[in-house]
Amino acid sequence: MITKILIANRGEIACRIIKTATAMGIDTVAVYSDADQDAMHVKSASVAVHIGDAPATHSYLDIDKIVQAALQTGADAIHPGYGFLSENPNFVEAVTEAGLTFIGPSADAIRAMGLKDAAKQRMAEAGVPVVPGYHGSEQDPAALQAQADIIGYPLLIKARSGGGGKGMRLVSGASEFKERLTSAVREAENAFGDPVVLLEKFIESPRHIEVQVFGDSHGSVVHLFERDCTLQRRHQKVIEEAPAPGMSDEVRTAMTQAAITAASAIGYTSAGTIEFIVDGSQGLRTDGFWFMEMNTRLQVEHPVTECITGVDLVEWQIRVAAGEPIPLQQTQIKLRGHSVEARLYAEDPAADFLPVSGQLHRVSFPDRARIDTGVESGDSITPFYDPMIAKIITFASDRTLAMQAMSSALSGTHIAGTTTNLSFLSALMKNVEFTQAQMDTSLIERHLDALLPVVSDTPIERLLACLVLSGLNQWSETSGWRLWGEASIRVKLTLQDENRCEVVHRLQLSPDGRVRLNLDEHDDSAVKPTNDEASDTAYDERGAVIVVQSITDNDIRYRAGTETCTAGYALWTQAVTGDQYVSLKSAQHTYTYSLKNPLTAGEDAQSSANTITAPMTGVIRAVHAAKGDAVNSGTALLVMEAMKMETTLEAPRDATIESVLCAVGDAVNDGDVLIRFTEPDDVID
Ligand code: ADP
Repeated sequence: MITKILIANRGEIACRIIKTATAMGIDTVAVYSDADQDAMHVKSASVAVHIGDAPATHSYLDIDKIVQAALQTGADAIHPGYGFLSENPNFVEAVTEAGLTFIGPSADAIRAMGLKDAAKQRMAEAGVPVVPGYHGSEQDPAALQAQADIIGYPLLIKARSGGGGKGMRLVSGASEFKERLTSAVREAENAFGDPVVLLEKFIESPRHIEVQVFGDSHGSVVHLFERDCTLQRRHQKVIEEAPAPGMSDEVRTAMTQAAITAASAIGYTSAGTIEFIVDGSQGLRTDGFWFMEMNTRLQVEHPVTECITGVDLVEWQIRVAAGEPIPLQQTQIKLRGHSVEARLYAEDPAADFLPVSGQLHRVSFPDRARIDTGVESGDSITPFYDPMIAKIITFASDRTLAMQAMSSALSGTHIAGTTTNLSFLSALMKNVEFTQAQMDTSLIERHLDALLPVVSDTPIERLLACLVLSGLNQWSETSGWRLWGEASIRVKLTLQDENRCEVVHRLQLSPDGRVRLNLDEHDDSAVKPTNDEASDTAYDERGAVIVVQSITDNDIRYRAGTETCTAGYALWTQAVTGDQYVSLKSAQHTYTYSLKNPLTAGEDAQSSANTITAPMTGVIRAVHAAKGDAVNSGTALLVMEAMKMETTLEAPRDATIESVLCAVGDAVNDGDVLIRFTEPDDVID
């Protein structure tokens, strides 16, 4: 019997596990770091224990602290989620030695699959197809070259301890081999402290298809069909679906049987995933798939399997960890419909998908999709952990409908405050090769230019932004505008990071709900409202006109021309600068406009030059300045780390430092004042 589970994780997966445990009447214990004090997983658990500083090595990766937290709160089991300690056999041993139940596989099973070469050898012995290659211990470069020549080119060199594509090199011909081997070995040694590599035939135009397996302590192993995770970017999954498009009964039987053989060979218990690389160039074939690796944990993309089988995999994990048999026999597990998952991240596709951090001023999802998330409006994405915002999951009777449901779920999602990959995901859902299931793992790379959002606004978005920023958006269901008349709003509207026109826009409201925007206050020739709805033009290059139908705290419903639309919005003020921001979400794009604080605009250069503020959320890594120092323009004053990158903050002018408001190791938020200079003509004694 398990009565209280500690979840050794954070974010969406911790919330996901808490949900099922709670539904089963089991108490939950959350653990959290300094960065997660107010996080959703902390609020949703029955009890929460603080385990350390923000960096994962001081908190979510600290085995002793986590086991202690479980003992101290009387938990009898630990669920590791995915990532962090989930595939660490030493953690499993520490948990069991403390007399607690680990909700997952045995330490031995994790070890058996931990090294790629040993895992592949073992799988080959068990009769599971593995990619032809060399997985032996001989590592002499000449001997490896001889093996490579036998395998043939192109081939892949992989680090046996590898992960995340590190230590992996593609070799297209014999002459390149030596140089690629040297660099793979060097990278493997640096990243994993293990230089051993294996060689593998390179499968061209491959698909990634994986099988969900489940084992119990009574010797049963079942499968829950497959997932297709072919849409990847740099070996990271972006969109997953189940079942795999084009899968025949014959190939499914061959793949799921191979997966069961693989899991049985290591006496696997709990949820696990067997990943196969598949040659999809001529359709799926029974002799066209090969074992790649096994993930000995719950997978990020497990919800699509839950949708098509109706099984709650976390519930099964808890039952099986408590010693119960798997609740269903293989023949009782049925596949129905089609499910798609998209991973929504705080990242900037235009900047090579660099992770971004910051406060989420609005997090809003449509009702129709399953949303697995660990954040809500007001929470922050910090630089310490994976910047995932949510997983959006749709389910329908067939692939086309599930994909359509995903497109509309993405349109109905609004994230304000940070840049996200939302528009990129929307573009991906429209990619013809993807919609027709003609995909391989390099589809995203191949179409990247077309998938990157080009965000250009029209006067309609400008109008909506002005309306929100003007504070005139006071609307009542019964009487229309509370305030109406004419407002001239001084707008140096900046769209995203681009600088935009600095003219005075003029906004006119009329009692019937019409709003007109003249982009230039002195030019009154912009589109004019008419009384004839059908002939209303929505905008031209001089301005726009819409008819507002309703305004709530988050949405504006309006008619533009003959179209009725809804735009989500969020408005916030940056604490330090007083600048206002509005985020607008149309069906296609998220637009972020900023409006300078009128009190500080104009004295910009001077006022900002009196302080150094944090350009983003991060951690101070070095302080090179102290009170009273006289510094020159360009002197490096601070080094900040954000999203694993270091940024040096320099003096903007010759100045004397009045105070340093941060220290090495401090976590700082976007906009925090870090250093103050004396007023240019102040004298410090
Ligand atoms: P890692 O553990 O570093 O992520 P994997 O072995 O899981 O490395 O491979 C990651 C990805 O690389 C796969 O999902 C697939 O897209 C590609 N890949 C791996 N092996 C091959 C291969 N033999 N041929 C072609 N592509 C491969």
